[in-house]
Amino acid sequence: MRILLSLLVLAAAATSQAQERPAGLARDDHVPPEMPETRLSVPGGEVVVRVASGSLALPRDRVLAWIEQSARVVAAYYGRFPARHTSLLVVPRAGRGVSGGRAWGHRGAAIRITLGEQATEADLKRDWVLVHEMIHLAFPSVPSRHHWIEEGLATYVESIARAQQGRLDAVTMWSELAAGLPKGLPQPGDRGLDATRTWGRTYWGGALFALLADVEIRRRTDNRHGLQDALRAILAVGNIETSAELPAVLDIGDRATGVPVLAELYARMKDAPSPVDLDALWRELGVRTNDGGVTLDDAAPRAATRRAITAPPPPAVPSGEPR
Ligand SMILES: [Zn+2]
Repeated sequence: MRILLSLLVLAAAATSQAQERPAGLARDDHVPPEMPETRLSVPGGEVVVRVASGSLALPRDRVLAWIEQSARVVAAYYGRFPARHTSLLVVPRAGRGVSGGRAWGHRGAAIRITLGEQATEADLKRDWVLVHEMIHLAFPSVPSRHHWIEEGLATYVESIARAQQGRLDAVTMWSELAAGLPKGLPQPGDRGLDATRTWGRTYWGGALFALLADVEIRRRTDNRHGLQDALRAILAVGNIETSAELPAVLDIGDRATGVPVLAELYARMKDAPSPVDLDALWRELGVRTNDGGVTLDDAAPRAATRRAITAPPPPAVPSGEPR
């Protein structure tokens, strides 16, 4: 993490050096002009964007628009963007699409995102990586054995947040969850989420925790509350810049919803395999899987819960308004 942060700082330094090149000096035509630092105002904060050297086919304003739209999706889910000030470094790399990202919080909220030099408008439109990284900003930094909750929430909330804003249709969202969540089920030898550090249990096991929590909170509160309320309450206490113990963080979420679902689910899944009958869950929610896709059944017992999960949330805090 520290090494990557140093790279971030170095890349940012390289950018400002290039900007400061005195006018009139011969410019190497192979080195494209650097994008200047741009401050994007988003609901509840600002994102300061820098772009490292490279040759992006996409115009600068399209890249900025993608960042701003991603920030607005995340702000809408949480009620505000999860950090007051975020440094975001875009690193161009050969190829297409958005190929990777990373978020930090120990010296202020920061994101590094890798964007293909040949990335297209369509690549940006279907990108989920930047929203995923921005969601990381919204949860306190917890000890590394709980990494699954950071990745699980980012994986789950990323799809829900985009669906709530109409940037991902509900059928696609549920079909992606139906395809991904089996990878999060415990395998032979599993010792629970805290002790099983596989890719599947970290990303999709964490996402399974999030979905189970969401459905159970909504069941116990007759859909008055969901995981979103718990996560907004947690953000009100601390974001990625805050270090915290997981049980205390979960307790804040449980107090907001009035039901101790997060604590109970954590107790069940932290140090034991805790298998989940996903087929039964899909039947209850009315998610019918077929040939790699899904159809949604509004006559299912918990179809209202499924619809509530992707319903648009209460409005975000308007930009610049004190909370
Ligand atoms: Zn992540």
